[in-house]
Amino acid sequence: MSGHSDPVESADVIIVGAGPAGSSAAVHLARAGMDVLLLEKSTFPRDKVCGDGLTPRGVKQLHVLGIDTSSDDWIKNKGLRVVGGGVTLELPWPTLADFPDFGVVRPRRDFDDMLATLAVKAGAQLRLATNVTGPVIDEKTGRITGVEAKTENGVRRFAAPLVIAADGVSARVALGMGVGKRDDRPLGVAVRRYYTSPRADDDHLESHLELWDRTDPDKAKLLPGYGWIFGLGGGQVNVGLGMLNSSKAFGRTNYRQLLRTWLDGTPEEWGLREENASSEIGGAGLPMGFNRTPHYDRGLLLIGDAGGVVNPFNGEGIAYAMESAAIAAESVLQAHGRTGAAREAALHGYVDAMGRHLGSYYRLGGIFSTLIGNPRVMRAATSLGLPRKRLMYLVLKLLAGLYDESGGDWADKVIRTLNRAAPRV
Ligand SMILES: Cc1cc2nc3c(=O)[nH]c(=O)nc-3n(C[C@H](O)[C@H](O)[C@H](O)COP(=O)(O)OP(=O)(O)OC[C@H]3O[C@@H](n4cnc5c(N)ncnc54)[C@H](O)[C@@H]3O)c2cc1C
Repeated sequence: MSGHSDPVESADVIIVGAGPAGSSAAVHLARAGMDVLLLEKSTFPRDKVCGDGLTPRGVKQLHVLGIDTSSDDWIKNKGLRVVGGGVTLELPWPTLADFPDFGVVRPRRDFDDMLATLAVKAGAQLRLATNVTGPVIDEKTGRITGVEAKTENGVRRFAAPLVIAADGVSARVALGMGVGKRDDRPLGVAVRRYYTSPRADDDHLESHLELWDRTDPDKAKLLPGYGWIFGLGGGQVNVGLGMLNSSKAFGRTNYRQLLRTWLDGTPEEWGLREENASSEIGGAGLPMGFNRTPHYDRGLLLIGDAGGVVNPFNGEGIAYAMESAAIAAESVLQAHGRTGAAREAALHGYVDAMGRHLGSYYRLGGIFSTLIGNPRVMRAATSLGLPRKRLMYLVLKLLAGLYDESGGDWADKVIRTLNRAAPRV
């Protein structure tokens, strides 16, 4: 579509970051025939600190892209096992019209490489080892007209009338455009580590709802968050924990120490001990509940972690990164065929579409995260809530965002009613 003029490389759209958000957006746009430049600071394969787990909501997005999940590369799970309050419950993923009934686990080292390769196959131009340092801004209009990046060949400029920021929690491009983080939205922190463990072939995602900080043995504290154990196959598990900023302990907790303390308390035969660790402990922030807005402004669209789209109920980010990519791609495609005010209207349509898609649900998530920041609510929830299977079924659907938009069963109706009652974030 658009021509290239040296030394500035140009395209219809620049996407910064080839994580799940950026690569998905690139697939959608390149398949539709747009000239896409996908800029990535690292080279593949690379690690990304993550739990590597996809609920059925994430699997749906893989299917949207036409990815075949039937091979052995995908370790499948049939539900969530919840451990807490002295009880263990296995909750099968629900049968729904809108989502498949299985989840998958796959290390991000493979997963992101696979998605970026798909983007290239679709026709996107992927530039690796291209570290975007900031936006190029038109002084007169304040609009973004491209980005500047450090590459192996020195500093390079890339030009496009539209830029999609998919650069993750660092959100460098958005910051360069003056779009800051919102303090009125929940934020999480999570750490993870790989271990060799006999639990590698687990067919459930397992979450531990009680995270006790026993740093001071006389004053054990129940923290708002959860720990996970996800089987990766091949003798490996991904183990980690995440916590919300709604508690007083946030910012004062040593997460790496907390992970060790928690794992030391798990049964010896699971093998989650120092000598079986197969990686360092890695950690990162979880930007939740739309904690960076507006999602569109002056030629720049924010998707994935760059737009703070992690689910505040459960810390799941891949599914929502990919959903935001699909929604943004739709607005970009609509804008591409228009000019002037009509073009801007299509782009602002992305903000509205994200609000319709997740705004009310994330408002509920914000309330939820504030509630579980209160230790008394947490204690009551883990000791009373868990034994009630019907309630847990509802909670599973709510926390994992697995409900039908129409039809469905009683639990879907309850969640839709809650969503209707909540104003959008
Ligand atoms: C410990 C932990 C566990 C988690 N577990 C899960 C889980 O089990 N399931 C789940 O669904 N979610 C999980 N999440 C959340 C999930 O990892 C993120 O929500 C998801 O990675 C967001 O995808 P993204 O594409 O928006 O960003 P990212 O995956 O962060 O990708 C951003 C990409 O942009 C590149 N980039 C960054 N800056 C620049 C730059 N300046 N120039 C060029 N390129 C750049 C990066 O190298 C990267 O490739 C977890 C998060 C953490 C921290």
